Amino acid sequence: MGAPAYRLSGTIEGMDSLDAHSEHGSVGPRNPLQASVLSRRLLSGTGSRKQVWQVALSASSADLGVVPGDSIGVLVPNRPGLVDAVLEALGMHGDEGSPAPQASLREWLRSDRELSIPPARLLRVVGGAGPSHHRTAPADPAQGIDHLPRPDLLDILSDAVAAIGSAAAIKALRPLRPRAYSVSSAAGPAQLTVARLTADWAGRKRVGVASSVLCDARSDDPLRLFALPNPAFHLPADGRPLIMVAAGTGVAPFRGFIQQLAAGAPTRRSWLMYGERTRSHDFIFEDEFRASLAAGILSRMTTVFSRQGDPVRYVHEAIAQHGSDIDDWIRAGARVFVCGSQGVVSNVRDALVAAIGASRGWSPLRAEALVAQLEADGAYLADSFG
Ligand SMILES: Cc1cc2nc3c(=O)[nH]c(=O)nc-3n(C[C@H](O)[C@H](O)[C@H](O)COP(=O)(O)OP(=O)(O)OC[C@H]3O[C@@H](n4cnc5c(N)ncnc54)[C@H](O)[C@@H]3O)c2cc1C
Repeated sequence: MGAPAYRLSGTIEGMDSLDAHSEHGSVGPRNPLQASVLSRRLLSGTGSRKQVWQVALSASSADLGVVPGDSIGVLVPNRPGLVDAVLEALGMHGDEGSPAPQASLREWLRSDRELSIPPARLLRVVGGAGPSHHRTAPADPAQGIDHLPRPDLLDILSDAVAAIGSAAAIKALRPLRPRAYSVSSAAGPAQLTVARLTADWAGRKRVGVASSVLCDARSDDPLRLFALPNPAFHLPADGRPLIMVAAGTGVAPFRGFIQQLAAGAPTRRSWLMYGERTRSHDFIFEDEFRASLAAGILSRMTTVFSRQGDPVRYVHEAIAQHGSDIDDWIRAGARVFVCGSQGVVSNVRDALVAAIGASRGWSPLRAEALVAQLEADGAYLADSFG
């Protein structure tokens, strides 16, 4: 299957922009592949503060036309409880008609509308922020969470309805947004590595629309899937050394790369640098990565944990710690791949500039120019979860 030529960068965009370049008739946001979850495996330990699941899909990577480095766009129906809460805020019962022929308002909201991320129009109506728009806790870059919950639809919907009425509020609702997940397997059933998003915020438990379905062992909700190709982030076919830098579920594409290396991709020196919260509960894929190291598929692995009391806590600090080795690898032609939240990606880049400056005795400007050149040459590649 020819992969459609669209790509999200940073944050997932609305459905309309997503399929702006999709090819007619191919699998895309408007023509997704119907699938389901084949199996789920909890990767994080029971003592972890978060849950990370390995999710195998009924569609294969080949069906979707994806390889590690690409992402999969996932559309899931909204939870019935969320639909009920939205109907209540709208002052509706759900059996009213909807803009979709033959669908009740309840059905339309469940399968067609974005009920988590608020539309810009409703945010404007209520003045930009709901009750949850207060920062009360520090960010944790190792967790991959470097932005705190923004107002979601339920935070603002009652105020918006009071201001413009329920009919206008319903009209302002946007199409259900696909969520992107990095492909974390090289072949067979496509696999995703998903952090379950839950947060107690402003007196209400927030549950991520897509991650809750993907990570809920009881859910057999249908999924609609399509490829989000990112050819620049594929494992190159040459044998140049490879440095993979990730925090949290940002390690997902690199698990796929390591499987590709094990399956016969050209051998090369490869170094995984990985940051998480705790060694005992959050070191996902530990056995696989250690086995790859023992087998020589990985040449080197550096792990850092932010909650162990270690002096080096975050992956960008590990870049500083190993700066001169990293610079040696770069001089030897290494490509650096970085994956994680926006904060992780930006901290790693800053740390690399500083590390190169320190290693070569260069000014920050000169080191920055080198990293910019590496980016232009495709030797420094970052994929951000937004
Ligand atoms: C290219 C790309 C690749 C990605 N790959 C992966 C991956 O491999 N694994 C993975 O787990 N995720 C990945 N993500 C993130 C994923 O797409 C979703 O954003 C994430 O799972 C949350 O979606 P949700 O539907 O569960 O939550 P939503 O329903 O979208 O969010 C629920 C509420 O939580 C808030 N919120 C959203 N994100 C956070 C956060 N991080 N911390 C606190 N509050 C938040 C929202 O503002 C909203 O109010 C990727 C994102 C991109 C753009």
